[in-house]
Amino acid sequence: MRVAIAGGGLAGLACAKYLVDAGHTPIVLESRDVLGGLVAAWKDEEGDWYETGLHAFFGAYPNMLQLFKELGIEDRLQWKQHTLIFNQPDKSGRLSRFDVPDIPAPFNVIMSILRNNDLLTWKQKIRFAIGLLPAVVRGQKYVEDMDKYTMTEWLRRQGVDEGVNTDIFIAASKALTFINPDEVSSTILLTALNRFLQERYGSKIAFLDGSPTERLCQPIADYITERGGEVRLNAPIKEIVLNPDRSVQHFLIRGEQQTEALTADAYVSAMSVDIVKLLLPEVWKSIPFFQKLEGLEGVPVINLHLWFDRKLTDVDHLLFSRSDLLSVYADMSNTCREYANPERSMLELVLAPAKDWIGRSDADIIAATMKELEWLFPQHLSGDNPAKLLKYKVVKTPRSVYTATPGRQNYRPDQVTPIANFYLSGSYTMQRYLGSMEGAVLSGKLTAQAIASANLPADAAAPDLTPRSLPLSPSTTNAATA
Ligand SMILES: Cc1cc2nc3c(=O)[nH]c(=O)nc-3n(C[C@H](O)[C@H](O)[C@H](O)COP(=O)(O)OP(=O)(O)OC[C@H]3O[C@@H](n4cnc5c(N)ncnc54)[C@H](O)[C@@H]3O)c2cc1C
Repeated sequence: MRVAIAGGGLAGLACAKYLVDAGHTPIVLESRDVLGGLVAAWKDEEGDWYETGLHAFFGAYPNMLQLFKELGIEDRLQWKQHTLIFNQPDKSGRLSRFDVPDIPAPFNVIMSILRNNDLLTWKQKIRFAIGLLPAVVRGQKYVEDMDKYTMTEWLRRQGVDEGVNTDIFIAASKALTFINPDEVSSTILLTALNRFLQERYGSKIAFLDGSPTERLCQPIADYITERGGEVRLNAPIKEIVLNPDRSVQHFLIRGEQQTEALTADAYVSAMSVDIVKLLLPEVWKSIPFFQKLEGLEGVPVINLHLWFDRKLTDVDHLLFSRSDLLSVYADMSNTCREYANPERSMLELVLAPAKDWIGRSDADIIAATMKELEWLFPQHLSGDNPAKLLKYKVVKTPRSVYTATPGRQNYRPDQVTPIANFYLSGSYTMQRYLGSMEGAVLSGKLTAQAIASANLPADAAAPDLTPRSLPLSPSTTNAATA
């Protein structure tokens, strides 16, 4: 069966990968000249990489880790020490660590919290543990029900001290969703916490050993093309053209000279939700399934790269800045093999929330960032001989992952739509891993599974659903069953 997939981000690529495994012929159509979507990266004039986002992989990403294994590229994940590292806003340049011991979950995470005395007092820890009990005992159903509250509201309802919010959840919320706890649905952070509490290595972090485009997306594309599929760049979908019965007749691709009609047996949109809404055919707009997409919208975020003339730190890990302007950051010259430099630091930082900054000039953004960095690296950026900023790159994404405010779970669509030959993929679609790389890969896998098990048109090939050809781990179930 030929399957046309619009979008060459992780969801579209994963969908195509699992379709070729099932014996089908996917054609991935990516609008840009680079694969990866929100994980896309480019090289500057001097050959240095810059990326759409600083990306961390977690131990609690079973589908992503399985994909690495299936592609034979597991060695490209550089696993870091099992610890979470936070800056301390009241102690310039000082770090605080939650070292997770190698004992079974949830005792490892509990122990890491109990042993950290920089951030939380004992009273705060005890109140927090009691507040968290319903999530641990009643599981994902309870967590989903909490989608009506922001994280701040949930913490207040559970009687958790405001200090826990300031010390932990502002940083966690900005890192996972690019918005603050007074805006984010508590379901998001409770889901992440639950995974960390249930899996021994769930909160362990890895960095890719190079750019996601080359080191992750390209091997998926090669896998697809070596098995008869196609991956096309510079192939933007201009229109979804319908049959009289409202099913898809073809994707119309905008070419440089002329348009091209691409026909297939099934069609997938793996484009971001903001683009899908723009391309929805008029007659689909009255269908409640598609109307719900109006409740979802991408959140702005900015990714920064700063190259310095010297080493600012030797920390080989992700750090939570806990600054107002910034979210997580890493010195990529330590964390990533291909970006390694023993002499000079390259800081990659996420600026979030970014709604007040997305329209500002790069120079303004860098000036504000440098001020925050003086606080994070006082020994190198203040004083008589501060480190010199050699160059920088600012990558703005006005609409990234869906904005995870309360109530959004109800708007996230299934991969199967009411249109028989049209499917959705993307980290915004309903799956248990929210707007993440794991969510994107899982959504692609779920879409491939749905297509492979659908009733096919009479002239299409029979699907091969053996576990060998379409490996779907038990963890590929949807949120509702998790
Ligand atoms: C700054 C930042 C940091 C992040 N950090 C992390 C992290 O540490 N860990 C983590 O797990 N996740 C992280 N994420 C989230 C993660 O990157 C995304 O959830 C995931 O990559 C989304 O993949 P996707 O395939 O669903 O969507 P997208 O990546 O948005 O892919 C959609 C694709 O569709 C293409 N497209 C659009 N219009 C058309 C058209 N008309 N025709 C054809 N193609 C089209 C786009 O070009 C794009 O390639 C981060 C994201 C950002 C922005």
